[in-house]
Amino acid sequence: MTFQNARTRAIEAIAVDAGPKATVDNPRQPVTEVFGQNVFSLSVMQAHLPKDVFARLLRTIRSHETLDPTVADVVANAMKDWAIARGATHYTHWFHPLTGATAEKHDAFLSPTDSGHAIYEFSGKRLIQGEPDASSFPSGGIRSTFEARGYTAWDPTSPAFLIEGVNGATLCIPTAFCSFTGHALDKKTPLLRSIEALSRQAVRVLRLFGNSTANHVMTTVGPEQEYFLIDRRFYLARPDLINAGRTLFGAKPPKGQEMEDHYFGSIKERVLAFMMDSERELYKLGIPIKTRHNEVAPAQFEIAPVFEPSNVAADHNQLVMETLRKVAARHGLHCILHEKPFAGINGSGKHNNWSLMDDAGNNLLDPGETPHENAQFLVFLTAVVRAIWKHGKLLRAAIATAGNDHRLGANEAPPAIISVYLGEKLTEVVQGIISGRREAGRTGGHLEVGVQALPRLPKDSSDRNRTSPFAFTGNKFEFRAVGSSASIARPNTFLNTIIAESLDALATEIEKAKLTTDFNSAVQKVLTETLRECEPIIFNGDNYSKEWHAEAERRGIPNLRTCVDALPVQLEPATRELFRKHGVYSEEELKSNFTIMVENYCKTLNIEALLTSDIARTMLLPACLRYQADVARTIAETKSVGSVPQAGQEKLLAELVEKVSRLKTAIDDLDARRARPDAESHDEQKRAKYYRDEVIPAMTAVRTVADELEMIVDDRYWPLPKYREMLFVY
Ligand code: ADP
Ligand code: MG
Repeated sequence: MTFQNARTRAIEAIAVDAGPKATVDNPRQPVTEVFGQNVFSLSVMQAHLPKDVFARLLRTIRSHETLDPTVADVVANAMKDWAIARGATHYTHWFHPLTGATAEKHDAFLSPTDSGHAIYEFSGKRLIQGEPDASSFPSGGIRSTFEARGYTAWDPTSPAFLIEGVNGATLCIPTAFCSFTGHALDKKTPLLRSIEALSRQAVRVLRLFGNSTANHVMTTVGPEQEYFLIDRRFYLARPDLINAGRTLFGAKPPKGQEMEDHYFGSIKERVLAFMMDSERELYKLGIPIKTRHNEVAPAQFEIAPVFEPSNVAADHNQLVMETLRKVAARHGLHCILHEKPFAGINGSGKHNNWSLMDDAGNNLLDPGETPHENAQFLVFLTAVVRAIWKHGKLLRAAIATAGNDHRLGANEAPPAIISVYLGEKLTEVVQGIISGRREAGRTGGHLEVGVQALPRLPKDSSDRNRTSPFAFTGNKFEFRAVGSSASIARPNTFLNTIIAESLDALATEIEKAKLTTDFNSAVQKVLTETLRECEPIIFNGDNYSKEWHAEAERRGIPNLRTCVDALPVQLEPATRELFRKHGVYSEEELKSNFTIMVENYCKTLNIEALLTSDIARTMLLPACLRYQADVARTIAETKSVGSVPQAGQEKLLAELVEKVSRLKTAIDDLDARRARPDAESHDEQKRAKYYRDEVIPAMTAVRTVADELEMIVDDRYWPLPKYREMLFVY
């Protein structure tokens, strides 16, 4: 009898059916024709709206002016006609609740008439505001149940789009989600507020430099998204992947990523078919996908778009993640977005490339050509350096999740220590400014701010250090510690706010210094003083090294290793004041945010603990016992025919018995710890600490012995697809 389980059946099925799938209707159609076809974009609006209505809407979009309600009816009608012509039957306000996913509640355009027929209806009122009965979303204590309703409000700065299914389409309207008391219950509202806060301060700095035309400065973001792909049949045989998004078991495979043969390798046909299909779907949504490649770990890949305004980039990144998941299923694949799906090989992150752009399209982090541009660049650069020096731990808090804890500091991703990489040349410039020396460094004589031009900073030379969490890469900063599954809204909200605060401080200082001296000297003075203070945050060395941990401590840079250390930064009085002053989060919102994040941490770990116990008890232990019985029987039978079993066989049995007992004990211990009152404490910080310090080690103990058993138990009995299969067979 050939032994079959989900694992072996999966491999057999893959062997006969894993070719690339032709799923794109018309692959020869130029993607330029496809691009944006499902977006109610500016050009679509222009074509569908009366001139004056379009002009007013444009003002709202470009200058963030409040939307005139009389405009809304006209826009709604045009939007409805456009959507219906493309097969839409429903619309939904599409928003980012604090769960991390996106949310939608569909309503039909259809409205019955008295005569027994039906017509399509969609009013400006429904476009602008929705009232989903959203009482089950986390609010972290902001809403009491009697006033549980929140409302969604249209964000005209992010375009509406159509999501197509095989049986019709739905119009999605990006919205903010707030409580009736005006508190933000989502990730988008604070992001929009932070963009405004930063714009206000950046425009102030531009005015100081004599720019009288810029009215708005936007933040631009290009997120590079990493992910894993495995065959869906393996996924379905792994309850841990299904319910926790990561493997809770799995012995280290004989081959991992050590051959470095996957990174930038040729893309397998089946994977390429999936990529092309998902890119086409994303093009339809107007998402400018630019790059694709194999990543470092086996079965790991990356997709990246061209940068966009950060609120649009945040919406688009959510759609990228959703689309990858959806399209993967079409190809018999499963897309894993978790930060650390497989132990022992690289996890996934999301490099958040970030910069500032004025309304004339100038990148404010581009050093520019002239001394004047250079001086302005240095002010913006200094503001960033100062922000990280003063508030780096807030950035750490912004990316703190249970999943990301596995990655940060595991010598594959930047550490939990947030420093800034400027590169050699720019660091020389900074040191020159600090010391006031004109001839400092190689470049010599270029350091008087506003007088001479900076040395050329080739984009590439500044991008070599891949270990830094926050690196200047020629004309933008790359925040590399963001988790792969996270919404980028939160990290960008925090980033924008701390930089708004820095620009505010620098502008104030320059204004003050200008009273007693000329502008150039004022800038020089403020930059010198600020950079002198903040210099310790600049680190161009190897962030993975042990020495850096010691050095960072000496420099006074915090190392908040886990979520439990990082999240409470949000509750500090200085944080509350910072967010309040810039109008990004109220005190209640920050507190509720904190509560939700900590609860999320505990819930995640609780699910993982339950799964660990469940899988170990009901799948692995029985498999191990079955094999142990086989060995015992073999030894007994050998004896019964008069042969003496050799020591090796007895030893195998003894080893099995010992490990199986240890597995059972470890499971019992995990269950006991999870059942203790501390795991249910009402004090969420206490609960989180308990999970980190007591539950995680118990889970690790179960996994350790289970992985040892995986290496000796009869392969036919092992129920879970193994790393060597999931990562290489597809
Ligand atoms: P890498 O070498 O790290 O892949 P790339 O130059 O390819 O770097 O850029 C990665 C991402 O950075 C892309 O999404 C790109 O659009 C984005 N990017 C480039 N310029 C900016 C900018 N000014 N602001 C924000 N993101 C940017
Ligand atoms: Mg990059």
